[in-house]
Amino acid sequence: MPAVVSRYAVIGHPIAHSLSPRLHGLFAAQTGIALEYNAIDATPDEFADTVRAFFAHGGRGANVTLPHKAAAFALADAQTATARRLGVANVLTRLPDGRIEADSNDGAGMLADMRGRCGIDPRGSEVLLLGAGGASRAAAFALLDADIRRITIANRTTERAQSLAGALADATRVRVVGWDDLESCGPFDLIVHATSAGVQHAALALPPSLARASAAAYDLSYGPAARPFIDWARRVGCASAFDGLGMLVETAATSFEHWHGVRPDVDAALAKISAGNRS
Ligand code: NDP
Repeated sequence: MPAVVSRYAVIGHPIAHSLSPRLHGLFAAQTGIALEYNAIDATPDEFADTVRAFFAHGGRGANVTLPHKAAAFALADAQTATARRLGVANVLTRLPDGRIEADSNDGAGMLADMRGRCGIDPRGSEVLLLGAGGASRAAAFALLDADIRRITIANRTTERAQSLAGALADATRVRVVGWDDLESCGPFDLIVHATSAGVQHAALALPPSLARASAAAYDLSYGPAARPFIDWARRVGCASAFDGLGMLVETAATSFEHWHGVRPDVDAALAKISAGNRS
């Protein structure tokens, strides 16, 4: 009888750009663990039914990407402490008793990549966070935990930035500015781009005054989606600019470890996947 292969997936919309299936394939080859990992496209209307059907038909774990991170948290039966704090989740796991657990490892993955591969030490930094979606939420909590001096949040929809600031509950270190007021609120040491504009091929107009000469720029997107922000950062004189490919590999590796109990080799996987996917 053929062995039953465990099923895993990444669920998002759009999802065609996702490198997660390839990454989990690389990790499986590294560790000798047999698994099936697919990309599933689900619109917001379809998301809850898609997740339930996936787990009902033998799914063991799913990564969740935009725009479903808040919905993933909301539909889970149990949440880890990190997910509860953030109110969003990027990892869903079927527990032995059949319940679905939500976890978030985006913030830890971003910090590991920043500190490790990018050589960014956020301590004491004036940080600008562009965006207030699910990934921004994880990034903002992680940056505050990393002892930054202050975070300024700007989002196309200001109310959403205000809601994130409320959740962060740190009035002395968190401020919100309107997207139209970006011109007058810099300069910053670290500029983190966490909107999905790049994935949607939408233009993003940012003033040059945001960056100090020593500034680091970090885009959570990767590949062509990160190109406009990285180009902007280089044009306005940021000292360094990075995309989120390393973060993606870190978070994928942490999900893999959560599901299989083995930490894959992140650097080896990143080296393999970088060709053609770096911004
Ligand atoms: P969400 O859908 O939750 O949030 C999207 C955010 O982008 C919102 O703040 C939204 O603003 C903003 N936005 C969308 N379109 C535009 C636009 N045209 N101009 C300005 N702002 C815009 O997505 P996520 O937070 O989950 O993901 C954000 C990005 O981060 C994605 O590109 C995703 O691929 C990337 N990401 C990368 C990860 C990695 O491991 N490297 C992990 C997680 C995310 P508004 O509120 O006004 O709609």
